[in-house]
Amino acid sequence: MEEEQGTLLVRGRWLFPAGDTAEQVVQDGALAIQGETILEVGTWDELRLRYPGVQVLGSEQYAILPGFINAHHHCRGASHIQHGVADQLLEPWLLSLARARPEDAFLATQLAAARLLRAGITNVVDVRSVRGQAEAMAQSIEGPLRAYEAVGIRVAFAVGMAERSHLIWGDDAAFLASLPAEIQTLARQRLPGAEAADVDDYFDIFDHFWRQYADHPRIELWLAPPGPQWVSDAFLVRMAEAAERYDTNLQTHLEESIYEKHYGIEAYSRPTVAHRGGDPSIGRKWGGRQPQPQLEFAATGRDCSPERPAGRRGDGGSGAGRDDHQR
Ligand SMILES: [Zn+2]
Repeated sequence: MEEEQGTLLVRGRWLFPAGDTAEQVVQDGALAIQGETILEVGTWDELRLRYPGVQVLGSEQYAILPGFINAHHHCRGASHIQHGVADQLLEPWLLSLARARPEDAFLATQLAAARLLRAGITNVVDVRSVRGQAEAMAQSIEGPLRAYEAVGIRVAFAVGMAERSHLIWGDDAAFLASLPAEIQTLARQRLPGAEAADVDDYFDIFDHFWRQYADHPRIELWLAPPGPQWVSDAFLVRMAEAAERYDTNLQTHLEESIYEKHYGIEAYSRPTVAHRGGDPSIGRKWGGRQPQPQLEFAATGRDCSPERPAGRRGDGGSGAGRDDHQR
């Protein structure tokens, strides 16, 4: 049949329609698909009769599920272990990431997106912090976006930059001054150089990509303040205002380690959530599309309450856990 060209059936023991309840699961179900369009959902027996002879994916040994959403990821190519970066507590781990070998951002993102698809994930929030000179910063955004275009996965590409706390959670300059001279020289190399892009450059670059992808059906640009210690209140407010202006979202890290928790108390004399979610001058603008400020903190860390011992990732969930990826 001419109309069935390019049509295929996807078969499963259980078919879970998107957003529906368990009662609506189709037993021994199937989808009829043509190109990017789902023609209909039904039982295998019905659809087999209606579409005889078309290609069949799956079997009665599969379940058919809607695409999953990964709400926070850092889509790297090779794993950290493959880069020779051992897993450890958040703070030394972040510094050790400098050891990772450079990789092509386009290829690395394609690999990460392919892995997501293989796991059934069709939507991802990819959180990136960019640094360096403006041109390099733009390239580190351009490559991944081109990769998402090529792979076809949906993405909220959340891009941010750190403006401080490059060495410690606090005053880098004071910390540098406390070091012996020969170590100062080494440590200074970890700071952005004089030519590095500044906050204004960041917003210019964001605007450039925002315009480029404003009407894209699968790619959104979000703003991503990497975490409280990395951005001043002034920078955060500008990001929140930009999120309102562009009608887009913010995503951040928050209190992923016991040291980040202590940072909030030392910097604001209260927990960071209370400072940044509760202060009207900041919290009101910490907006995006949702009206309640606290909800905007998409914290990905585990419970870091002082009563629980700081521990390694995988120690049962306590302590200074972190999400598994570079910010
Ligand atoms: Zn993260």
